[in-house]
Amino acid sequence: LSSGKEIGLTVRKEENFSDWYGQLVLKSGLADYGSTKGALILRPYGYSIWESIRETFDKYLKDTGHENGFLPVMIPEALLKKEEEHFKGFNSEVFWVTRAGTNNLSESLALRPTSETIAYWAFARWISSYRDLPLKINFWNSALRAEIKATKPLIRNSEFLWQEGHTVHESSDDAQKEVNLILGLYKKLIEEYLAIPVRQGLKSNQEKFVGAVSTASLESLMGDGRALQMATSHHLGQNFSKPFEIKYLGRDNTEQYAWQTSWGTSWRLIGAVAMIHGDNKGLILPPKIAPIQVIIIPIHKKADEGLVKEHTKYVLVDLEQANIRAKIDERDEYTAGWKFNDWELRGVPLRINVGPKDIEKSKLEISRRDTREKITIGRNELVQTICSLLNQIQNDLYTKAKEFLSSNTTPAFDFETFKKIISEKGGFITAGWCGRDFCETQIKEQTGADIRIIPEDDDSIMENIECVFCRQKPSVRVLFARAY
Ligand SMILES: [Zn+2]
Repeated sequence: LSSGKEIGLTVRKEENFSDWYGQLVLKSGLADYGSTKGALILRPYGYSIWESIRETFDKYLKDTGHENGFLPVMIPEALLKKEEEHFKGFNSEVFWVTRAGTNNLSESLALRPTSETIAYWAFARWISSYRDLPLKINFWNSALRAEIKATKPLIRNSEFLWQEGHTVHESSDDAQKEVNLILGLYKKLIEEYLAIPVRQGLKSNQEKFVGAVSTASLESLMGDGRALQMATSHHLGQNFSKPFEIKYLGRDNTEQYAWQTSWGTSWRLIGAVAMIHGDNKGLILPPKIAPIQVIIIPIHKKADEGLVKEHTKYVLVDLEQANIRAKIDERDEYTAGWKFNDWELRGVPLRINVGPKDIEKSKLEISRRDTREKITIGRNELVQTICSLLNQIQNDLYTKAKEFLSSNTTPAFDFETFKKIISEKGGFITAGWCGRDFCETQIKEQTGADIRIIPEDDDSIMENIECVFCRQKPSVRVLFARAY
């Protein structure tokens, strides 16, 4: 057995963020590397967080009239090529199956990089009249992309778990309403459950989803000041319904092409939780998504074993009856100190120590993972105190992340300042942009920062704002950042 020190993180977050994150993912038991480049194995602890995210979001989707379905992972080449922009955008990262057993296939099959093409091929057969609309289906599956850029666990992998929603509507307005509805659900999930504040807005033409009319996105800032796209919702217009011939007989008895949306988020949300809330002791999980909210540690000598173990069971029952996810660490082969480190590494929000003295005095000692503060309470205050502490931690994590986001969002009025902020401070830069691809590309090439979003919550077009690159007026205020 290794000592507590050895199981902990050996790299500090503020010194080498990337290595710290890599150790955090591996040592906390979230995930392990797969056997091929960029592949990742999700371990039970990581998967239970994914289940927690999935259950929450799945309920939102069902409450708003969506249903789940299943799609095959292989897509014939001809189908993937049907929408030209879409194919061009994904072509370089598609894995192809070219052989079945010992026979070469007459047509290559793509392992889905995303499922628009196969889903819409089917939708065209399911839809014939306005009575068949809206069609709102979600798929919980995985997608495969041969990553050319450096891979990163949970953030950029050759296969990842996600959900992809696909909807079909009678009008562009209906599709836009769906785009907004879904973005709102993502925002609720990410802000209220993951305690991660986001900025919301539209992608630029160059950054939007290939094949979409527009892409709305939620962006957040990781602990190293790099942005991460958290979830996207695309208005596809009729860009896919035309090549895939998704037509319906309208209320006016004329045949029309349908309007569509697609949207998704992935297990990168777990990576974001780790990067934003984690510290040098390990993960810090927001209580709402923590698979274990309270860990109970029996502390005893041989003589007190029976008494202490019995009492931990009473504590567990009290918590479970209040719907708190709690667990007793009954591993006798580890010391209490080893267990403290282990649960800190795994980010369990609260720890309760139960020893013979506590039982005698009818007290309990509680430790908060986020602040590492210790609180002694009366045994009869247990449930009430735990509930209020879990709420408090959830709120405190959000507030702390929000302060980080605000203090790392900096305005730049000229390109020299822009370059200085990017190289010295990082984070989001709010700056003017004239709308031209040329300036966007120049800025990206010279600084590595791209337009994350054109925020919807800013007063967009302003007569007096100059483009940070060419100084042209009027411009839109946008958020730039270097991103994952
Ligand atoms: Zn410009």
